[in-house]
Amino acid sequence: MPLLVQKYGGTSVGTVERIEAVADKVIGYKELGNDMVVVVSAMSGETNRLVSLAQEIDPQAKGRELDVLLTTGEQVTIALLAMAFEKRGYPARSYTGGQVGIITDSAHNKARIKSINDENIRRDLEAGRIVVVAGFQGIDEYNNITTLGRGGSDTTGVALAAALKADECQIFTDVDGVYTTDPRVEPEARRLNTITFEEMLEMASLGSKVLQIRAVEFAQKYQVPLRVLSSFETGEGTLITTEYEAEDIMEQALISGIAFNRDEAQLTINGVADTPGVAYQILGPISDANIEVDMILQNIGADGTTDFTFTVHRNDFDTALASLQKTAENLKAREVSGNNKIVKISIVGVGMRSHAGIASRMFEVLAKEGINILMISTSEIKISVVVDEKYLELGVRALHEGFGLNKDPE
Ligand code: ADP
Ligand code: ASP
Ligand code: MG
Repeated sequence: MPLLVQKYGGTSVGTVERIEAVADKVIGYKELGNDMVVVVSAMSGETNRLVSLAQEIDPQAKGRELDVLLTTGEQVTIALLAMAFEKRGYPARSYTGGQVGIITDSAHNKARIKSINDENIRRDLEAGRIVVVAGFQGIDEYNNITTLGRGGSDTTGVALAAALKADECQIFTDVDGVYTTDPRVEPEARRLNTITFEEMLEMASLGSKVLQIRAVEFAQKYQVPLRVLSSFETGEGTLITTEYEAEDIMEQALISGIAFNRDEAQLTINGVADTPGVAYQILGPISDANIEVDMILQNIGADGTTDFTFTVHRNDFDTALASLQKTAENLKAREVSGNNKIVKISIVGVGMRSHAGIASRMFEVLAKEGINILMISTSEIKISVVVDEKYLELGVRALHEGFGLNKDPE
């Protein structure tokens, strides 16, 4: 019997009525002859509500107890959904991550799945039950509850699909597929029938939160057929596929999508000596504080000193700035400055590999709109720029049009 793993996100289970609608939808697939494993998120807004509660007690709340708290959101939806199946006469069982044997490492708040014990699930499927699993959570080897990072239910879905060798992992959400850019920012965005794993990975890591990056990594590694679909409409959605399969559409498109990230902040230290080890002296303390650095830029000034600019997550801005100020004193730097009102916009596409001039076209489009570029970074299949946050929407839309991604006029 074919096996489907379906994951329903927060909006899709946002009310009791929606949970009942998910039950009907899943039963429709079961009636077609599929075994069904369903992963659900917490009701929309619930995880944020729980985070705020924790922050009322401790603004820096993190670690083990935060995970104990946050996983309750998903425990509510698995029970409600299983009840909805039972009410309809379909036997079902709900499981928390720990109960189903999703074993993770002990990195609270961002744990990685190490193994899955699929025994319970297989037994239930054989008994004809629908299996409902809480997304976003697992337990470590000492039975501590862990979470997989925000958006982590996608990863639960893909990991279960890999462990069970499901025929497809279907991510149901509030949009009907992966678009050329976030349709909430650009109404002219188009749904893609297929996108390559490579591109989806770039899009996810550059800020497109439609799929959690680890879910895409997992699906690529274990070759899980992965599809993004709407919970509310029917349609084929978007299939994430290998480059070979996606070749036909990629041939025409130089770039397949535009991603952006609002969570950026930039720091600069000016006038440090241009000597070996200076990058290490500047970035060492940042990494010791567990802060991830994204883009880095170093410029040699006319006087032989060097300027150093880098970006971090906006949440880490204050800590990074304090650290850099200390470093500046030690290095006798001229000055330190920071800007936490910046964003990153990226164009992504495997078509870039075989075409020159894409970067200059990107810069031309932004220049025409009077958008100043603060930093640039490139890889084989993406170009990212950092700009003032007030230009986010304008920049995304101008690039979307400039690279011919807008919908065809009807
Ligand atoms: P869920 O709660 O179902 O996991 P998410 O909010 O995590 O849903 O992801 C879906 C959202 O991702 C959409 O509502 C959309 O605003 C956003 N999004 C960002 N980039 C894209 C994109 N390129 N294509 C589709 N959706 C995108
Ligand atoms: N409920 C969790 C979150 O909001 C996990 C998820 O929805 O994927 O991040
Ligand atoms: Mg999500």
